Amino acid sequence: MIIMKSEATKEEVASVVKEIKKYGLRADVSRGAYRTVIGLVGDESKIPFSRFEILPGVKEAFMVETPYKLISREYASTWEPEAENRVINVGDIRIGGEELVFIAGPCAVESREQLFRIAEGVKKAGGHILRGGIFKPRTSVHSFQGLGANGKEGAEEALHWLREAGDTFGMPVITEIRGESQVDLVSEYVDIIQIGARNMYDQDLITRVARKKKPILYKRHFGAGIEEFLSFTEYMVAEDNKDIILCERGILPLGKGKSYFRYTLDVAAVPAIKRETYLPVIVDPSHAAGRRDLVYDLSCASIAAGACGLIVEVHDNPVEALVDGQQQITPDEFEELVVACRGVHDAVKNRRNRD
Ligand code: PEP
Ligand code: MN
Repeated sequence: MIIMKSEATKEEVASVVKEIKKYGLRADVSRGAYRTVIGLVGDESKIPFSRFEILPGVKEAFMVETPYKLISREYASTWEPEAENRVINVGDIRIGGEELVFIAGPCAVESREQLFRIAEGVKKAGGHILRGGIFKPRTSVHSFQGLGANGKEGAEEALHWLREAGDTFGMPVITEIRGESQVDLVSEYVDIIQIGARNMYDQDLITRVARKKKPILYKRHFGAGIEEFLSFTEYMVAEDNKDIILCERGILPLGKGKSYFRYTLDVAAVPAIKRETYLPVIVDPSHAAGRRDLVYDLSCASIAAGACGLIVEVHDNPVEALVDGQQQITPDEFEELVVACRGVHDAVKNRRNRD
């Protein structure tokens, strides 16, 4: 990390950046109210810090050992004494702001009619952003893979419906990208790109998605530690995309015998991640629970723990759903959940503001 003197000129900053590039590293320049700080992206051991310290305009130059510094609150406080939570604007929705944000919709887009019926219900219930899977990650090749499996035309048709449903009901839209070949196509249609839990570790995919410079909803892998999750997040921020929404969605349950839920929702991860980074944190109670009767409880717990929103699977006829029917809730149930979560948010808000 290179901390510039408060009176450093633009030319001095530019010449430090040029010098960094000579060593094969990239520079992440952050201009705070008082000073400019340059983060190094790449192998810092190549940098002769003592040489950098004597360049014009440089106050201090030193190595930062943490695996994630660009997203770290502590690092951000070097140039912004009161490191603020990052608010990601998507249309007129503010993710990470004062108000809770609810993302909802079906696990999978099944037909235009299905999507429009659910989108209308989600909007009426207080939803802000519409979700709908088109490329579904599935364990069995014999199950419904999403309409994206019907070739480019099938995928484009479903993406078009998603866009149309979002526009009709005034909601930005989000869908998951499962592989690199889908990046260009999907990013043309959606406002937020989802990277699913199974792909959290795919460095090539996540950096390629980050280069689209669109907001990303990034899910924690069900076996990933928090430090790992944040370290991989850094790959995307290193591509100069800080619009990353982190999503806790449950980790693998422990022990023998029946666990009574699909994944263990790591509620403690929410406040712990918020201590580490200024990026917004949301929760997916649906995939964690794997059963609809737990979704309400996990949602309330997540908001109490400080999540700034939720992504919830909603279907107008869960029993007939082609994927994840057992965990999808109806629009009416979703409305109840929204009301309850707002109540929980109001109750804990003042405490959270002091975090
Ligand atoms: C999803 O949100 O549709 C999904 C498959 O979730 P996850 O990646 O968390 O399993
Ligand atoms: Mn699902």
